[in-house]
Amino acid sequence: MRIVLLGAPGSGKGTQAKKLAVKYRIPHISTGDLLRSALASGTPLGLQVKAAMDAGQLVSDDIVLGIIRERLRSSDAKKGFILDGFPRNIAQAQSLDGMLRILNQPLDCAVLMDVDFDVLMQRLTGRRTCENCGATYNIYTNPPRLDDQCDRCGAALRHRADDNEVTIGNRLRVYESQTKPLVDLYLNQGRLESVNGVGSEDEVFRRMLNTLEPIARGLRKPKLPPPPPVKAKSPAKAALAAKGKLLSAEAASKTAKPQQKAQAGKPAASKTGSAKPVSRKPAAQPKLRGKKTAKPSRPKAASKRKKHR
Ligand code: AMP
Repeated sequence: MRIVLLGAPGSGKGTQAKKLAVKYRIPHISTGDLLRSALASGTPLGLQVKAAMDAGQLVSDDIVLGIIRERLRSSDAKKGFILDGFPRNIAQAQSLDGMLRILNQPLDCAVLMDVDFDVLMQRLTGRRTCENCGATYNIYTNPPRLDDQCDRCGAALRHRADDNEVTIGNRLRVYESQTKPLVDLYLNQGRLESVNGVGSEDEVFRRMLNTLEPIARGLRKPKLPPPPPVKAKSPAKAALAAKGKLLSAEAASKTAKPQQKAQAGKPAASKTGSAKPVSRKPAAQPKLRGKKTAKPSRPKAASKRKKHR
């Protein structure tokens, strides 16, 4: 199974991705985790991304795409993956489709974890992570037994550097402006699933499985992304091509018989002689699975846009 988890910071993508990775035995690929480990080990890459991460801004597409390209080529990603925190903008989503097209491994779907703004704030400010085993806690909703100490292994709990109020504000704004448009992108392509992300980890996980099981069992085939856009010609080439067309239309009209002259410069008629304009059907309207009342043009997620500001 190949899925993208979408959702605001604090929506629970990481927690659910870990559980899904165990359930489906596929790697959980988190660009945030990969960048944090580069930062922690002091690699040149880590130094390069530090300022953007500390400020809650996005790291450059080139860097993130390089990391993802390499990761998706690893052997463990051949049987599937869960992408968490990637893509984060439209350009990254398009590059991902391009990479997966080359690998012949299209996405099964993107899953939006839908969570209200107040809940996001509480989760982000209260979040603590064990620096040894990665267990996650929340001082408000799921506190450890001893302050700042992991229940599982006893190691110290860490408050992520970018989980302070200023940076959280930036991260939510970046999500609104750059990442949230992906919800509409995948929705319009018929590749979006939406899961209510409020509730206990196990409740949300059950909802995730309800959504993903038909895909995991092969009962639903992935919907392919639209083909890549045809590359635009350079302005000079476009002008030359247009000139060429004009010239050939003029030449055709000079050599044509009188009844043909009226057609010169118009699109050629088909072999059957019909030159009717091709009628294009309007694109099929995508549906949100399981939401009988959801209108495609106004998904629930989009209607909450104001709350996240
Ligand atoms: P996360 O753990 O997903 O919240 O990511 C933490 C930080 O890593 C973000 O605030 C960004 O600075 C950076 N980051 C993670 N994923 C991406 C991405 N796909 N594109 C750009 N920056 C990213």
